[in-house]
Formats: sequence, structure tokens, C-alpha cells
Amino acid sequence: MRPDVRRLDAPRPLRVPYVIAWSGEAVTHPLMFTEHGVRRLTYIDARPSDWVDGMLRARTGVDRGGEPVWRALNVHRQWLCMEALLCQVCGASGRHLDTGRIWWVVTETAFRAIDVASGLTNAPPTCPACVPDSLASCPQLRKSSAVYTVAVAEPVGVLAEVFEPGPDGMARRTGHNEFVRFDEPGRHPYILATQLVVRLEDMRPAGTPEPRAEPVSPSSCNLSWPMGSQHPVPRGKERR
Ligand SMILES: [Zn+2]
Repeated sequence: MRPDVRRLDAPRPLRVPYVIAWSGEAVTHPLMFTEHGVRRLTYIDARPSDWVDGMLRARTGVDRGGEPVWRALNVHRQWLCMEALLCQVCGASGRHLDTGRIWWVVTETAFRAIDVASGLTNAPPTCPACVPDSLASCPQLRKSSAVYTVAVAEPVGVLAEVFEPGPDGMARRTGHNEFVRFDEPGRHPYILATQLVVRLEDMRPAGTPEPRAEPVSPSSCNLSWPMGSQHPVPRGKERR
């Protein structure tokens, strides 16, 4: 039988990573400061589900309608990936079945080193099956990434938009993408959390797994840590 030449020549379709936001998920609900009891930021039509870990979290849709927004992460899915340790590309578990360790692609732009074996990141795990195409598809990952397995990923804070009261009690934004720790309660009434940040512990360099059949969209590299350039991947840990 002759091979199907058209099929062999056709470009492979790119997958949209699980964590990426879609245009139909955007919401623009107004914010204000309430002065009842303690001053704090709130949506005008406040709901109990707006607060997570005592902080106001940005609302979002979750239906993946419209088009992918390549430079944005869906707040709900980023949070879920971090808390449940799911792969940011396929949404499956980021843990290795045999070892129980979690696979992570660490980049200069989404990582702040604490020491040689630990650090902070806002980029969720990448499972072993998705690592090869993530590295192959993303120019940023090719330039400055390292693949690790980690034993523990503990939430320690958030990236957030920062607000202060403006005229008529409406909220005025004064900061963008700032790191706010859980142990800074004085800042929590003034922020809108957009991404969960975890501390990785017992980081160990890992080999790169074999590639899978389906390539990943380059958008999977659009995860930036606001102070990443000051805290590059530890020296000697660059991917070869
Ligand atoms: Zn995956």
C-alpha cells in the first residue's frame, strides 16, 4: 500500500496547554473597597467563593470558549494545577507513578532560587510525557530551562494585582503581578490574587523523557515570574 503522502507532509496540530486562558473565559466585574469592619478589596457583588486562603481571587470562566489567549493563564486552572500537582500542558498528574516525585520544567522567567535545591515558582508541573515537546516547541525553554523532579511543592503565596481606595470607594490599581506571601496578612486586603506560587523542595536534575506523538503549542512557555531576571536558574543547572 502506498503511504498517504498528504498526511505525512501535513504539519502536526498544536495542542493548547491546559493552563492557558481562553477569550470566552474573561470576566470584567468591578472592584471596590468595603469599610465594614475592616477595609478590604471586594467585588461589588461579593460572593463567599471569591475568597481563597483569606485573599480575594480573580474571577474567571472555565468553559474554554472563544480563542486561546496565548499570554494569559486561566486563574482557576493555574490554581488547580498547583494544588493538585497537575501537568500544565495536559492536565494529568505531574507525579511519576513509580517514584512519587513531581516533574518540573524550571525557567529563568518563572523561578526564583532559594538555594541549590529549592526555589519559588508560579509555573505548574509538566508531566514526563509533555516535557520533550514543551522543550522542543518553546524558544524560551530552549534558551534557559532545566528539568527537575521535586519531592514537595508547597503553596507559599500568590502573584497579585494591588489596589488602593480611589474616589467613591472604587478600587484603583497601583501594582501589577506582585509576589505576596501568605505570611504578609497586612497586604491581603489590598490584592486581587491571580496565580498561586509554590516553593519547590528537594529539587534534583532529571533526564529528558522520550518525545510523544503530539506537539505542544509554544504558548506553554508564557509563564513569567516578575523578578525572575534577578534570580536565574542556579549556576550549573542549565539544560545541556
Ligand atoms: Zn502532561
